[in-house]
Formats: sequence, structure tokens, C-alpha cells
Amino acid sequence: MKKFLSKTGLGVAAVFTAAALAMTGCGGGDNGGGTDGGGKDAAGLSFDVAKDVALTGSPTFDKIKSSGQIRIGVKEDQPGLGFLDAATGERSGFDIEIARWMAASLGVAADKIEYKSIPSANRETALANGDVDLYVGTYSITDKRKKLVDFAGPYFITGQGLLVAKDNTDIKSEKDLDGKKVCSATGSTPIQNIRENFPKAVPVEFDIYSKCVDALKGGTVDAVTTDQAILLGFASQDPDNLKVVGEPFTVEKYGIGVPLGDTALRTFLNTTLTDGGATWTKIYDATLGKSGTKVEQPKVDQY
Ligand code: GLU
Repeated sequence: MKKFLSKTGLGVAAVFTAAALAMTGCGGGDNGGGTDGGGKDAAGLSFDVAKDVALTGSPTFDKIKSSGQIRIGVKEDQPGLGFLDAATGERSGFDIEIARWMAASLGVAADKIEYKSIPSANRETALANGDVDLYVGTYSITDKRKKLVDFAGPYFITGQGLLVAKDNTDIKSEKDLDGKKVCSATGSTPIQNIRENFPKAVPVEFDIYSKCVDALKGGTVDAVTTDQAILLGFASQDPDNLKVVGEPFTVEKYGIGVPLGDTALRTFLNTTLTDGGATWTKIYDATLGKSGTKVEQPKVDQY
């Protein structure tokens, strides 16, 4: 399924090689002084909550409106993207800010967001069952998934990479995986790519990536593979023991998962993304961009 791309085809994804992640911090600005009821968050951001949102023909929005709250599926173990601080209960990261922005555009304040931590393998089911209204968590848009869910976006582009122990000298790129234990999350595009295109690698699966990182630190696997943006977040938390090697070797376009067939909602969120370039940039600068790396917001695919 997953196509291999020549090195030259990886320009966009390769940008993220250098995108070391900053998890917290102050500053970063807001989007004009409005508040979304949650005050400024971990990244120092707040969002204007839309009033009198006109969105007809969306069963998901009808539910959100009548309950006065939105349930958003996220990750909780991916530093810099979707992270839950167990001590403070605070969620942080680029995906969390995107979630908060989308909620605000739908007229829902931050304190009316119910986050649900849902691992990679359970995303389609959660959306199909109505357990969540949206999903924002490193969720690659693929044709296979589009049969089960719809996607707004893309709102970010990265690519599959490799994380190894700092003292590892034999894995320098995806060409060095023969006979190696390579860990990724069940139901993810990277584990599927390993199974389909790296037949000599030994796949190891857990439900969430932090368990792969623990296995790497414990020496029971040789590498963790998933999106470079996720791996850089883990490496930045433990630079003495972990390093990202090689260049991204796929292209992963992150979408906001919405229930299948809710075209009105998908179109609405795409418009929010398209019209909100300045907000996207503020979110990026306050989260992933803290390393100083600059990237452009990807063009929305209004399929
Ligand atoms: N973006 C990839 C995917 O959607 C890997 C990250 C993840 O599992 O969330 O499968």
C-alpha cells in the first residue's frame, strides 16, 4: 500500500528532521486577545470562540450544540504533539492546540472540551461509534481509512522515521533494519509499512508509542518507528539516551478525523483551516516551531 518515495521526493517531510520539539514554555502570543474559556494554555495560547455558528446538515454538530460540549479523541503520550501531564492534568502539544482551535471555531470553549485518549488502533471505531466527535492525534490521511472515517486537512505533514539508542551504531537509516526488532503502534501506518515493505525486519507492536520507547530503553527492541515529528518529541525528552537517525522515508499527512459522511462538518473544518493561516502559524510557532524551524501550513485538500 504505502509507496516508497525517492529521497528527492521527500523535501517536505525532510524539513521536520530538524524540528526538535519544545513541550512547554511561555510566550507564543495569542490570537488577538479573545478567550475560549480555558484561559491561556501550556503554549500561552487562547482562541476566540465563534458565536452563532451557522452549520446545517451536520449530525455531529447538532450533537455538539445540544450537549454544549465536544468530545475530541487525542493522544496522551506523544510529547510536543499530544501529551498529558499526569501530575498537573494539563494537555499540551501541537495537536491539542489544533483541537482547541477547531472547537473554538465550532463555538465551543476550551472548558467544554472533553478529551479522550485513544490509541492508534481504536480511532476509526471511536469515530464510528460516536464515542468522539473529532479526532486530532497524528492521524494520517489514507485511502484505506477514508472508507471508515472522513478527514479535514491536512494540517501537518511529516514522514516515517527511526528512533534508536544513543549508542547504537548499526542502524543509520531504514536500509539497516534486516534482522532488527522494530517497534511501532498497532493499527498505525508505520507498522503496516514495516510489515509490507521490510520483510526481514522483526515487527514488534504495542498499543501506544511510549511502550515502544520503554522497550527501546530496556534493550528489548532495536528501533522505534513512527512519524519523525513524534520521534523527535521522544528524543528531545531524553537526548542522553535516544536519537533520531536517517531521513523520513514516507509522507504522512495529518488529518482531523470526523465521522464518515459528515461532509458539512468536514467542509466547515477545512474552511477554518484554510481561512485561519495566521492562527495555524501561531500554534506552530508556540509548539513544534519552538526549535526555530519554520514550515508552511499545508494546503487543505477539499475532497
Ligand atoms: N501517522 C501515523 C498513523 O496515523 C503514525 C502515528 C500514529 O499512529 O498516530 O498511523
